[in-house]
Amino acid sequence: MEYKLTYEKYKEALIGGKFLGLKCNKCGAYTVPPKKVCLECTSEDMDIVEISGKGEIRTFTVIRVPPEGFEGPYIVGMVELDEGPWVMGNIVDLDPDKAGMDLIGKKVTTGHKVVKGDKFSAGDGVALAFSLQD
Ligand SMILES: [Zn+2]
Repeated sequence: MEYKLTYEKYKEALIGGKFLGLKCNKCGAYTVPPKKVCLECTSEDMDIVEISGKGEIRTFTVIRVPPEGFEGPYIVGMVELDEGPWVMGNIVDLDPDKAGMDLIGKKVTTGHKVVKGDKFSAGDGVALAFSLQD
């Protein structure tokens, strides 16, 4: 058994401006970020596809006491992608002090930001970054 889309390839694509995921050939569901099996039906028969990056904020929180190595405040949100999966990332280009419940349901576009490695990780990582659609 082999990973069709490794986390490493997913990360490199994001940094290059491409949001990749997996589409199941058995049930049609999308799996993002990549996993070994389809999140809906556990099939391994999936193809790599480009994800639109469009979605809606379902919930969020404002981090005021960040983990070591991070600077707060910042907003972490869960977004339901148009393709179906829910993904977590930072809601950017928005003042965390002005974040209110009206954010829920807002349409966003997904980009990325590089997250500096800390003593708990093996180097720089990448996080999804959501911007509100105009
Ligand atoms: Zn499936």
